[in-house]
Amino acid sequence: MSLVLVLNSGSSSIKFQLVDPDQHATDEPFASGLVEQIGEPMGRVTLKHAGEKHVVEAPIPDHTVGLDLAFKLMAEHECGPTDVELVAVGHRLVHGGLVFSKPELITDQIVDLARSLIPLAPLHNPANIDGIEVARKLLPDVPHVAVFDTGFFHGMPPAAALYAVDKELAAETGVRRYGFHGTSHEYVSNKVAELMELPKAAINQITLHLGNGASCAAIKGEQPIDTSMGMTPLAGLVMGTRSGDVDPGIVFHLHRTAGMPIDDIDELLNKKSGVKGIAGVNDFRELRRMIEEENEDAWLAYNIYIHQLRRYIGSYMISLGRVDAITFTAGVGENDSFVRADALANLEMYGIKIDPERNALPNTGPRLISAHDSVIKVWVVPTNEELAIARYAKAFA
Ligand code: ADP
Repeated sequence: MSLVLVLNSGSSSIKFQLVDPDQHATDEPFASGLVEQIGEPMGRVTLKHAGEKHVVEAPIPDHTVGLDLAFKLMAEHECGPTDVELVAVGHRLVHGGLVFSKPELITDQIVDLARSLIPLAPLHNPANIDGIEVARKLLPDVPHVAVFDTGFFHGMPPAAALYAVDKELAAETGVRRYGFHGTSHEYVSNKVAELMELPKAAINQITLHLGNGASCAAIKGEQPIDTSMGMTPLAGLVMGTRSGDVDPGIVFHLHRTAGMPIDDIDELLNKKSGVKGIAGVNDFRELRRMIEEENEDAWLAYNIYIHQLRRYIGSYMISLGRVDAITFTAGVGENDSFVRADALANLEMYGIKIDPERNALPNTGPRLISAHDSVIKVWVVPTNEELAIARYAKAFA
């Protein structure tokens, strides 16, 4: 079996998966794990393989030690990169700026270009690049491939991609809409075309990636024409801990009037807002339990979330003109039937009708949840970004 190692390196963690690019989206990967608390006094490596979980605790000062420990733990359980037929390593890169529109075979030049984009994603790209450098040293004999979260949205029309701010300043500073979760939106929209047995070019779709982070996209044929995340992943839908769209004047108000430093406002809007900011929890399973116990904050958080989601769906329907499919994906979208029902409730006059029984089925794979007479087909398609990255990487093997 040919496997691809998929790495998602954060500032204090590395998520890894050994994936068979030919597996189904809902199959467990061959092996998966997490290196966490890099740089803290004590770190941890967790590995899942063959139905078992293994944990090692040790200080992990940097990404080199972290990945090395992960490979050793994998080797102990006979699933190390040298125990399997490893054909490529796929790296998730958050920001590809205006430079990268598609996956790239990593060379020194590509690393330099990715480094030049750090100012656009100062929290994400440096860690992604650290992961690439360490992995290239440890696994020098296989191709390494970079897959960009922004790539799919690269060709969006200027009316959707540009903000109405000083044109020259925006161009100089890289201020524009890039969009994120592109790997997921592309994967899911390809899958929908397959399920509908139509060429992708012939259908207009709205994809709703509702995980802890959340974004939606309007896709006309092959081309995304709009997406909710912006220059950063903070914009758009209400998320687990991110506010989504807020009046930018709020930032000035919190700084000038409430005296909050910029970094605190950044943390507030990215980590302490969204559903968590209102209800105190960001997991939708907990939120549902609280709603059932008639907790008012939970109900309010849920209503704000749904309100914003419907607003985006409505605006994308107008932008697209004709919509053939609306698709839910990611943790919330795949599992929470209440969110799906409420997001699309009372839209019969727009050709949208959910079938409650289909909507209530468990998340076992891609499925149609609209009624037989719904003009717009509504789907749930489990996303699998690691699998999509593995498939891109394999193409370079
Ligand atoms: P991310 O990749 O953004 O971390 P995921 O797509 O894995 O997120 O989604 C995680 C979120 O999905 C959780 O925070 C939780 O809110 C939601 N979720 C997961 N399972 C369920 C479920 N069975 N019912 C409702 N929500 C769920």
